[in-house]
Amino acid sequence: MNLVILGAPGSGKGTQAEHLQREFGFTHVASGDLFRQHLEQKTALGVRAGEYMARGALVPDAITIAMLRDRVTRETGRGILLDGFPRTMEQAIALDAMMAELGRAIDAVLYVEVPDEVLVDRLSQRLICRECQVPFHRTANPFRVCPVGRCNGEHLYQRPDDAPETVRARLVTYHRQTAPVIDYYGLIKLLITVPGYGPIEEVTRATLDAVRHRKESR
Ligand code: AMP
Repeated sequence: MNLVILGAPGSGKGTQAEHLQREFGFTHVASGDLFRQHLEQKTALGVRAGEYMARGALVPDAITIAMLRDRVTRETGRGILLDGFPRTMEQAIALDAMMAELGRAIDAVLYVEVPDEVLVDRLSQRLICRECQVPFHRTANPFRVCPVGRCNGEHLYQRPDDAPETVRARLVTYHRQTAPVIDYYGLIKLLITVPGYGPIEEVTRATLDAVRHRKESR
């Protein structure tokens, strides 16, 4: 089974993707993480992508699609869970073509839906540990103890694109570019909408149930 997980920045789709990976053994491929790896390694792609990322804009489709094609075609066997891709209609069409070439298909698209005002709060208050990549919230979930036992909160930082004005730009971009993708997956009956707010355990339960149900009905 191959899945896409969609949601605005701050929707918690990354956390839900990790639960899905643990529960069902998917290979988790997050386009934002791939870009950040390139940026850290200062590859040519990373340097180009970094200019867009820093201002909350989407990286151009040609660069994004080439990077994902490379990653997806190296994936064998296990089901893939695409996180943060596709974000534009051009990417969605390219993904259909990529999967068809591989004799595979996307079986479901999970959409983690969260109101914008909740997203702005979550992101502009988010602090991330540079060592373990674990996200915290300044007030709702402050650092107390390192969940992987590696540090004492000395590596917390705010992602440059989590500054409030960049968050707002990312949300405008998100709605403009990604709404048609959500409509498209709705039309071809792959879309499953999961409410992404309220107690996190409930969001996780709804996400896992939705995928379990879709697996059983295949
Ligand atoms: P994320 O970690 O998913 O919030 O992504 C961080 C940044 O990477 C985004 O703000 C974009 O600049 C870039 N990015 C990630 N995925 C995509 C995509 N599918 N298309 C274009 N840009 C992307």
